Amino acid sequence: MDHKLSVLVQVDLHAQYVHLVITGCVTEANQHALHPVIARARTLIPPVTVTVDLTGAAHVEAAAVELLRAAIDQDHTLAGAGPVEVLVPARLPGHAPVPHHGNTLMGRTRTRAASPVLRVA
Ligand SMILES: [Zn+2]
Repeated sequence: MDHKLSVLVQVDLHAQYVHLVITGCVTEANQHALHPVIARARTLIPPVTVTVDLTGAAHVEAAAVELLRAAIDQDHTLAGAGPVEVLVPARLPGHAPVPHHGNTLMGRTRTRAASPVLRVA
């Protein structure tokens, strides 16, 4: 199964918050892709609090959350950077038994690939 994640960065113009809204799949294998995004967000308008919101993700692995939190805690290179809070859904979502069910991101990608554009001259 192809696990893909997307990040939407929301920056408050009054420097009150930076939200990273994560959708798609957050797995042990792909969570590292968030590390540089989080690091960048922390230094955008320090010392603002960066919120990593996983509540909208279609698939979240517990190991991925642990690795993500460990990476944030261990990142001492960002002196003066703002704190990070990770929002995790109460029950970690996984894929339904039907492949791709509930993952609109993958559904869209598949549809686009299967729909060649035909032009009539
Ligand atoms: Zn997945």
